[in-house]
Amino acid sequence: MTLAPWNVDAWSSLGERRRRDALPHAILLAGPAGLGKREFADAFARALLCESIRADGFACATCRACKLVAAGTHPDLVRVNFELRDDGKSRTELTIDQMRALSERLALTAQFGGAQVALIDPADAMNHAASNALLKTLEEPTAGTIIVLIADYPARLSATIRSRCQRIEFRVPDGRLALQWLAAQGIGGKQAADALNAGDGNPGLALAWAQGEALKLRGEVAQDLRELNAGVAAAFEVAQRWSREESDLRLRFAASLVQQQGRAQAQGGARLSAGGPLALTRAVDLVKLTSWFDRANRTRDLLRGPIRSELAMLELLATWVMAATPNRDVQQRST
Ligand SMILES: [Zn+2]
Repeated sequence: MTLAPWNVDAWSSLGERRRRDALPHAILLAGPAGLGKREFADAFARALLCESIRADGFACATCRACKLVAAGTHPDLVRVNFELRDDGKSRTELTIDQMRALSERLALTAQFGGAQVALIDPADAMNHAASNALLKTLEEPTAGTIIVLIADYPARLSATIRSRCQRIEFRVPDGRLALQWLAAQGIGGKQAADALNAGDGNPGLALAWAQGEALKLRGEVAQDLRELNAGVAAAFEVAQRWSREESDLRLRFAASLVQQQGRAQAQGGARLSAGGPLALTRAVDLVKLTSWFDRANRTRDLLRGPIRSELAMLELLATWVMAATPNRDVQQRST
């Protein structure tokens, strides 16, 4: 078992606390998807249950407990994930029933006499009732139980839940480390740089995107934004296309492209509006870029709810079109 190199420090400090017998009852692994939180949580759960832990703090992989964990049948490891609905589709929330079941389970003594470990993933998908039910469990911890919450969007957790957990923050590593890691996964050169750029430095996302079609999609999104800005594409047509498939990823790319455009302009001065990743025909000033970035992120949040996505998308794209200053302005400024 090896962890991503940027997570090694967090692993060591958790191991240190374990040796001092000073582990918290609840741990929140917080940070964007793609940084190895789940791999980390898994390694940690295995280590807690292992009967013959290695000197480096990892589970041995050969003892009885490790074999049961690997088989998914260790009685003292509880995983709380999305359940299936009656129609066979996955739920999009963790429910109060799941949290009550968890609480009942943790109230029992550990069957192997060691720790009891619960992994709640994604914890940020608990609905309000589920969150309240979990809070009770967190407020009255049973000795020997460790609850690990995994959240890509920790801000969605209630403040009280967050305050009950020891938080471990997963952050985007520095570029050189990320590129080294990508190279070790077989992604190098311009492909690695482009993918890392698209993922705003997140190596796990960069890897997934370099292996799939995402970078092509990002190119399409950039072109749509450019054409809307130039007034040669119709917002309703683009909105339709964006709502039909990959809405969330398109909005993510749009927000990130606009943010990168803003950064390029801030570094290069107003004259650089025609440069940047979007190579805009008509200038959009920094304030408008920033506010559009926020708006795109809000629209992403909105689309997770039961809203007509085409309308929200159209509204967002119309704002993008309007953010451009008229053509002659730019020409005057750039001559
Ligand atoms: Zn073991």
